[in-house]
Amino acid sequence: MEDLNTRYSTEGDFLQAVGEVVPSLVPVLDRHPEFIEAGILERIVEPERILQFRVSWMDDDGKVHVNRGYRINFNGSIGPYKGGLRFHPSVNLGVLKFLAFEQVFKNSLTGLPIGGGKGGSDFDPRGRTDAEVMRFCQAFMSELYRHIGPDTDVPAGDIGVGGREIGYMFGMYRKLTNTFAGILTGRGMEYGGSLIRPEATGYGAVYFADEMAKAAGKTIEDATCLVSGSGNVAQYTIEKLLDLGARPVTVSDSSGWIHDPAGIDREKLAWIKDLKNVRRGRVSEYAQQFSGSTYHETDRSASSNPLWAVKADCAFPSATQNELLGPDAQNLVNNGCWLVSEGANMPTDPNGQSVFREHGVLYGPGKAANAGGVAVSALEMSQASQRLSWSREEVDARLRGIMQNIHRESAAAAKEYGFGNDLLHGANIAGFLKVARSMVAQGVV
Ligand code: NDP
Repeated sequence: MEDLNTRYSTEGDFLQAVGEVVPSLVPVLDRHPEFIEAGILERIVEPERILQFRVSWMDDDGKVHVNRGYRINFNGSIGPYKGGLRFHPSVNLGVLKFLAFEQVFKNSLTGLPIGGGKGGSDFDPRGRTDAEVMRFCQAFMSELYRHIGPDTDVPAGDIGVGGREIGYMFGMYRKLTNTFAGILTGRGMEYGGSLIRPEATGYGAVYFADEMAKAAGKTIEDATCLVSGSGNVAQYTIEKLLDLGARPVTVSDSSGWIHDPAGIDREKLAWIKDLKNVRRGRVSEYAQQFSGSTYHETDRSASSNPLWAVKADCAFPSATQNELLGPDAQNLVNNGCWLVSEGANMPTDPNGQSVFREHGVLYGPGKAANAGGVAVSALEMSQASQRLSWSREEVDARLRGIMQNIHRESAAAAKEYGFGNDLLHGANIAGFLKVARSMVAQGVV
């Protein structure tokens, strides 16, 4: 960590992600000197390859813009690199390295043969017309296409990259290469996508919560639930919470958040989907549409987010990294929250995690709880290579089985290495072991 802190002092998110994993590995390295001899720790924190490129594009008024594009191939020892593309103005190398590093462990946990990668751009799709987004996606792919392939690297969506962006990028890839290949997941059903892929991350985070609750002799049925974000992950988290009889009462976006004490039901959820996916509006409109709900603007300079101070049983942070800090975790605990399942990547900071640990909150870290998205992406790759399409029920059943398995393996690893019921340590260890063994087997490369 000292070496990394010096070398990458400007990459705070990356250092945080590594710092979250290293303490879990101490007892593992004690038991496996071969990992130390093979320099696994030193190697696993260095990406195998980082690609950075210029993305030049023209807006509707003919003005030229330049953004930075990235793709990180972090670790390919157990399969082709796999991980999303994020389009958001906050994207930089440190953010993408944190996401790609987490992805290595997450992908390993799914039990499927996929390595870890991540990419994206500091392009902001918000407020851009469809034509502008299309031109940007085409410009982005006009470089990326050289570096990806069904057996090399298969990107997917993330913040700011949904079905629309995947479609535009896929079209450009196909034109440039004259090949119809499974080089992106999250594709439309008409051109090689998988049923349940859009739902997978949110559904998976709720399945994971269900497993944690059951293992503790509890249930999320009738539980009041806080959800942050209002994008892909938040929407399908809410949908699955409703399926299981829970009561989601909040959503948010980067401007503010909604509290609806009566609960967000299916009709309101359909309205949110239309607002965010079709009209591309702000959640503030929800309060005008549904009486009894309130809108609160987010104060970015505040040290806590009042969304997490709403009284609830369970929390599903599903927006972005470091959105749930120590004081937020304390507010949740003070109000009786007993379960947190992370749909977002690294939403809880280390202080928040300590609070959950101290108070015995059932805590599902993102790399385990949100692995359903990449798991179904891997199922999309299998279907694409077989030129087959599995039914909704089949994919959903596989997703559920994978989430159960991740929970079981993380819990078992935590126990085996002396971390009790701590799923963060357990997920880190279970994800690490498969990658470390593969790296040892493949020699010093
Ligand atoms: P979307 O772009 O669909 O939605 C993101 C949501 O989070 C939006 O409501 C957005 O608000 C909000 N948000 C984004 N950045 C910020 C910020 N800095 N502060 C406050 N709110 C913010 O993305 P996804 O739902 O796909 O991703 C959400 C999280 O889930 C991310 O952490 C992502 O890495 C993670 N994840 C996603 C997977 C997937 O399959 N999509 C898989 C695994 C993890 P606004 O509308 O204002 O932009």
